[in-house]
Amino acid sequence: MLRAHPELFVLPRRQHCLELLGEGEGEQAQQYFNDMIFAPTRDARRTRYLDDLLGQLQGMIAGNKAQLNLLEERHSTCRSIQDYLRVYFPAFDRGDEVRASKERSKGRLHWTTAAFGELIGGDRFRCLVCHKPLTLRNEPNNRMVSHLHDECPNITPGIRSRLPRRNRPPRLNP
Ligand SMILES: [Zn+2]
Repeated sequence: MLRAHPELFVLPRRQHCLELLGEGEGEQAQQYFNDMIFAPTRDARRTRYLDDLLGQLQGMIAGNKAQLNLLEERHSTCRSIQDYLRVYFPAFDRGDEVRASKERSKGRLHWTTAAFGELIGGDRFRCLVCHKPLTLRNEPNNRMVSHLHDECPNITPGIRSRLPRRNRPPRLNP
């Protein structure tokens, strides 16, 4: 799993580390980070997103705990895992939340782009690959594809191969 899906390997471990921090177990968190997160992922395929996630976690362990909001972190870890499953394992796509999100995005996102993004309201979308909100005013489908090709910090060759080429309209719902 580490080789094929490093993000899925890191997310639950990162959350465990934060829980330790939240309990005031700074030393244990550091040990867990070294042994269970840093060492095994040293040679894994890393994206910029994953580098940032690990760097930020390291900073929090090193004493910058003011940033730690456990409730928010739990929510965001769950959402990131859910996003990841949607993107990489679309056949698991059965949750009510996912169904509701697809319903919301209908009519705004075509079939190919809906696999990687969702509408969160108005002209606000969320990239399911890097989990970040995006404002896409015009032609959200083309803009989403451009984001993934050119800006997304968590893009992988596997996802790139599923994207329409630049300047080609994404596929409509078949
Ligand atoms: Zn992205």
